[in-house]
Amino acid sequence: MIPFLDLKAINAQYRSELVDACTRVIDSGWYINGSELTSFEQNFADYCGTKHTIGVANGLDALTLTLRAWKLLGKLKKGDEVIVPSNTYIASILAISANELTPILVEPDIDTYNLSPELTAAAVTSKTKAILPVHLYGRLADMPSLLQIAKQHDLLVLEDAAQAHGASLNHQKAGSFGDAAGFSFYPGKNLGALGDAGAITTDDDELAETLKALRNYGSHEKYKNLFQGVNSRLDEIQAAMLNAKLGFLETEIARRREVATMYLQQINNDAIVLPLSATENHVWHVFVVRCERRDDLQKYLADQGIQTLIHYPIPPHKQSAYQQWNQDSYPVSEMIHDQVLSLPIGPTITDEQVAAMIRACNNFS
Ligand SMILES: *Cc1c(COP(=O)(O)O)cnc(C)c1O
Repeated sequence: MIPFLDLKAINAQYRSELVDACTRVIDSGWYINGSELTSFEQNFADYCGTKHTIGVANGLDALTLTLRAWKLLGKLKKGDEVIVPSNTYIASILAISANELTPILVEPDIDTYNLSPELTAAAVTSKTKAILPVHLYGRLADMPSLLQIAKQHDLLVLEDAAQAHGASLNHQKAGSFGDAAGFSFYPGKNLGALGDAGAITTDDDELAETLKALRNYGSHEKYKNLFQGVNSRLDEIQAAMLNAKLGFLETEIARRREVATMYLQQINNDAIVLPLSATENHVWHVFVVRCERRDDLQKYLADQGIQTLIHYPIPPHKQSAYQQWNQDSYPVSEMIHDQVLSLPIGPTITDEQVAAMIRACNNFS
């Protein structure tokens, strides 16, 4: 049996560090907004190369609260258009509509699965106020081109970096390109907590201060409320888990790249379209192939005890949650959702399992 991602094995590697971190929090008597959070925020900001990290309860809140903060700061208003890839995970879009902003779905580039800069430029109108690029599957979006478009039209850029901790371009890391970025530390992400957690990275002092208030009832100072905030805090136990795991992230990414390289070099089957190789800056959150007979391939692999997943089976514009788009056509996105399959990849997959995966893929007909 080859599991898609063995979370138990991943965390078992750090069992003693995690138990120590947890014990430290239990014994401290301080469980919310304490030194574990402050230290993780500093460590993660240093890792990403940003001035600030603001911990929140999850990745969706990281995106939603950033857009909300921009509204409070007068940078966005109800009805403004935000460009977002049509093939993203639903959370990127939920963050926009939750703020009564208008999501404008733009098709991705079929080779990178990331927002097409050409189509982004073409989608800009007088109402466009922000771009929300997603570093999907762990591959950095084309930030130089997107930032240029943003500069030209005076648009805010919010990176959805939930799948791309550590992805980089010329040593600059995901989360440090835009005006702000949202990260998720959902357990299955490349840097995963042992529960829910998320964060925003930014260099903007005013945004950071606003977000720190927003996540805590809109309060900067106890019992003083500047905004109608929410409760979206990254608790001390999860911050301690993340502090313990952050130091191993680069090693884990290196192993993911090793596995991706083996797949890229050794899977050789006309029926399977491999991802573009970019192993040096891609963090391979998932290894996504395309196959016209995707459901057959998934069943064939399952019959051999190989677990695969689909990221994602239904495009956002076909979801009941967004009925207003159900009749619209996004052919690239639709093809992606019909054909993609994510193969097992992760820091604990063994060379034997990788070899078995490659054999299985090469024998599919
Ligand atoms: C996981 C994910 C999110 C949401 O993160 P949660 O912590 O689950 O709320 C947002 N965007 C993308 C692209 C994701 O993969």
